[in-house]
Amino acid sequence: MTETHRGRCLCKAVSFEIDIPETCVNCHCESCRRQCSSPMTTYIGVLDKNWRWTGEIPKTYRSSPGVERTFCGQCGTPLSFRSERMSGVMHLYVAAMEEPERFRPQLHVAYEEKLSWLTIEDDLPKRNGPEYL
Ligand SMILES: [Zn+2]
Repeated sequence: MTETHRGRCLCKAVSFEIDIPETCVNCHCESCRRQCSSPMTTYIGVLDKNWRWTGEIPKTYRSSPGVERTFCGQCGTPLSFRSERMSGVMHLYVAAMEEPERFRPQLHVAYEEKLSWLTIEDDLPKRNGPEYL
């Protein structure tokens, strides 16, 4: 039996559901940093058949060739990114989940782009470059 995890933007206009999370990753890349306006972000990788928008559809911004990032058109909350290199996989931000404590990152990616003043003291693998689910 699958358990549905729910997420939403700040104003609640955009919401989504995840049935089966595949991965949970901390990303230090500059694109995620700029979209989230945060030193790093944590996202959940989900196969397309296992998640859906449930409220308004968010706006889409193409941050680089083949990469789409979404955000709420009302409140601006960043919600997701997807890359054609990982076709069929959506990445939804843990900070938008109703219960973010239920997700634990397993890995750091784009570690070479990590900000120097951000101190990471966990024992997770630290990988350079993007994640490929
Ligand atoms: Zn919103």
